[in-house]
Amino acid sequence: MHSQYPTLANESKELISKLPLNAKGLHRINFAKGKITLSLLYGDLDQTLNELKNPQIKYDAWYLDGFSPAKNPEMWSAEIASCLAEASHSETTFSTYTVAGFVKKNFERANFSLFKLKGFGKKRSMLSGKSNSEEKKIIIKKKTIGIVGAGIAGCSLAKILAERGHNVIIFDKEDGPSKAATGNPFLVAYPRLSAHDSPYARFSLHSYLFSSRFYDDMDTKFWKKSGVLMLGFDENSLKREKALCNSRKDTVLFEKLDKELASKKAGFKINHGGLFFKDAGYIDPEGLCEEMIDNELIEKKFKEEVKSLKKESDHFHLKTENSEYVLDHVCLCNAFMVNQFTDFQGVSKKRGQISYISTDKTLKNLEFPICAGGYLSPKSEDKHLIGSSYSKSDSTELIEEEHNENLKKIKIIYDEKIKLQGGRVGFRTVTRDRLPLAGVVNGIHVNIGHGSKGSTSAPLCSEYIADLIDSTTLPVDSFVAEALKPDRFKVKN
Ligand SMILES: Cc1cc2nc3c(=O)[nH]c(=O)nc-3n(C[C@H](O)[C@H](O)[C@H](O)COP(=O)(O)OP(=O)(O)OC[C@H]3O[C@@H](n4cnc5c(N)ncnc54)[C@H](O)[C@@H]3O)c2cc1C
Repeated sequence: MHSQYPTLANESKELISKLPLNAKGLHRINFAKGKITLSLLYGDLDQTLNELKNPQIKYDAWYLDGFSPAKNPEMWSAEIASCLAEASHSETTFSTYTVAGFVKKNFERANFSLFKLKGFGKKRSMLSGKSNSEEKKIIIKKKTIGIVGAGIAGCSLAKILAERGHNVIIFDKEDGPSKAATGNPFLVAYPRLSAHDSPYARFSLHSYLFSSRFYDDMDTKFWKKSGVLMLGFDENSLKREKALCNSRKDTVLFEKLDKELASKKAGFKINHGGLFFKDAGYIDPEGLCEEMIDNELIEKKFKEEVKSLKKESDHFHLKTENSEYVLDHVCLCNAFMVNQFTDFQGVSKKRGQISYISTDKTLKNLEFPICAGGYLSPKSEDKHLIGSSYSKSDSTELIEEEHNENLKKIKIIYDEKIKLQGGRVGFRTVTRDRLPLAGVVNGIHVNIGHGSKGSTSAPLCSEYIADLIDSTTLPVDSFVAEALKPDRFKVKN
């Protein structure tokens, strides 16, 4: 790749350089406009090799850059060569800069044919190879896929599937996309990180990095990669901030700002320092969702409530009030309404209210969201969004107490007089462990439970569902996939 495709090599190098240290697990990086998919495994060999031992998943090409074979022989062992061979099909190739004798021997023994080629840069020669596996490369068949729900989860999935050439039919009972939880004027896309490597922490980091690249690739005005400032304002947030700073030796993910620097960046006095996440930002979900489903392979069925879903041999029969559709696959992206069709435990809805406040001569220049318990967004027209409340109420009307809750939280960020200008009510779909439900159960795909982080979590879950449908390499490792299983709360009897 290096000598033949220098621009691709540069593009991939640049994307990889943006990954932080200490980001264990599998990273999915799409580049060359999504035509090339890179699976990058960070971690110790014994764990990462296990990730390759899924007999259904075969890779097209391997790039081996395991440091010098003389100094780091473990990376070039016979075990690795045979593991890569197992995860190869008959057209898989590999290439590496080294031509060391024992590397060649290990790959030959693992059933690769080898070719010594002219090297690149300062290297005189390089090694390339082709697998002699009898396993045929899977040809992905174009399918017809139904998606129930046109929020950020459904629309991001529709976009990914259509770009892969599938025919998509997206249904929503509302008269357009982004009308339910997704319909706030802004959704702030930022991670909730932890210093420990739990499934939640790993998913938060990976989905954040993925979503930021996903929106970048859309090259859209509905994504503002403005950065997000997260203040350390109380005992818990300061403790988390300290642990995060101690766990990282790089500043790729965030930059620590004291209160003077935070104030300077925001353009007004803030009484707390915090962490500035430069790859974070905010989306305008309505515009973004419209753009995501603007593809001729996506048929839009708005004001069509899905009433029933039935599996018959290898097809699904989906009924709305007046029509019936026969589909190869169905993905439920209908948030807490999922149990209309199946019985998923551990899922519930949580009311949230955002409030709008008028801008003023200080706030009007704010360029990025600031979070501290609640959040304050940059202005949209002449209003800023602050939020949001969490309550058990079922009411769809604005509740004064919840406006007051938002106004109180915002004082940590901006303690000047502000004028309330209404608000909006929505219902988050929350799960017991705060992770989404993403995967397949009894043949039905599910992508729900995005809680208060849908703009960050939905794109990676959608990519995962699309890969499950295509039976191809997955964008999450088994540690994360296990934690996202839709039936994980099912009571075992
Ligand atoms: C007050 C508030 C503030 C928030 N702030 C943020 C934020 O700053 N950043 C962030 O990332 N997230 C935020 N969130 C969370 C975010 O809004 C959600 O995580 C996200 O929108 C969930 O998207 P979704 O596609 O899963 O669900 P939804 O947007 O709820 O979409 C589900 C869709 O399914 C449709 N549907 C249901 N049943 C059927 C059926 N039978 N047939 C057809 N259609 C059906 C519904 O009409 C709906 O359109 C906030 C949420 C709230 C409530």
